[in-house]
Amino acid sequence: MKYIDEYRDSGLAKEIVEKIYSEVKNYNSEIKIMEVCGTHTMAIGKFGIRRILPENIKLLSGPGCPVCVTPQSYIDKAIAFSQIENVKIATFGDMFKVPGSYSSLEKEKSTGKDVEIVYSPMDALNIAKENKDKKVIFLAIGFETTSPAVAMTLKNAYQENVKNFFIFSGHKLIPPAMEALLKGKVEINGFICPGHVSTIIGSEPYEFIPENYGIPCVITGFELLDILYAIYLIVRNICRKEKPGVEIEYRRSVKREGNLKAKMVMEEVFEVYDSKWRGLGIIPLSGLKLREKFWEYDAERVFDVKVNETKENENCICGEILKGLKTPKDCKLYRKVCNPENPVGPCMVSSEGACAAYYKYEE
Ligand code: SF4
Repeated sequence: MKYIDEYRDSGLAKEIVEKIYSEVKNYNSEIKIMEVCGTHTMAIGKFGIRRILPENIKLLSGPGCPVCVTPQSYIDKAIAFSQIENVKIATFGDMFKVPGSYSSLEKEKSTGKDVEIVYSPMDALNIAKENKDKKVIFLAIGFETTSPAVAMTLKNAYQENVKNFFIFSGHKLIPPAMEALLKGKVEINGFICPGHVSTIIGSEPYEFIPENYGIPCVITGFELLDILYAIYLIVRNICRKEKPGVEIEYRRSVKREGNLKAKMVMEEVFEVYDSKWRGLGIIPLSGLKLREKFWEYDAERVFDVKVNETKENENCICGEILKGLKTPKDCKLYRKVCNPENPVGPCMVSSEGACAAYYKYEE
């Protein structure tokens, strides 16, 4: 509790906000800062940070929610896997309600398909070990934060010779997505880099951003002072026209080199490939697939399923929101039709989605 209080100290928060105002006092252009982490999106909403910043500082939510960036075709294929006899789908809860083109895992479960919510990949492996008559497919989505745990689980399955456990990899890498955004239409003047992901990968993978695009990056934590201070550092860098770099505000967790053990296990199990993201399309070298040694655990190689053509709801603008081009309030379904009880798109389903964050905190 003491730890949390320290990072939510209102006096210090006020001081940082005043410093931000003082920096932008004579700066007349808009400063657009994007966060690419769903936990930051929720924290920004929860602490009401948008409302206390100067008008010319705009916070954009990028592709930081793993469920939201998972393309519709992945959901459709997961549903197709659930139709196979004796297959049990093990998934994180956030994926359960995400609408696919024709159904959702939740609807499939209600018609008797075997879908179970788990809290870790290890839970899924244990289910496989306890249910030898089932083929358990774990829906492995998430960024560099979750992929090391999946890699460790697969190594365990391999060592224990478990034959009825598989993963469907939808893992994604954050730095290539940041580069794709910088090459796209949206104007970004600074990045708040993700805290959890950076604990694994360190700060080095972002260094191309200030070097090639001249944009400051700050890796920060999830408390009020963490986020405000990251904004201050970015704003100061821009207003004073300093040389941009990658700063680590979240020093209590992040080192430049990251977590070497976690990176090693990821490297052993996965290799990078060009991967499809919702809203962003195919991004070069942005996904993780299994290396040949682990192909026997690759659901896509083991199970041959037919998936109908993907159909996205044309009124859902999740894709545009993930690119920072629109906000949830620009969506005509927001609140009127789409809400957490009746989510139309993944950005409202996920507890880290921008639409869910706006619904909960930004009104
Ligand atoms: S409010 Fe709903 S329909 Fe609109 S973009 Fe968000 S998730 Fe999609």
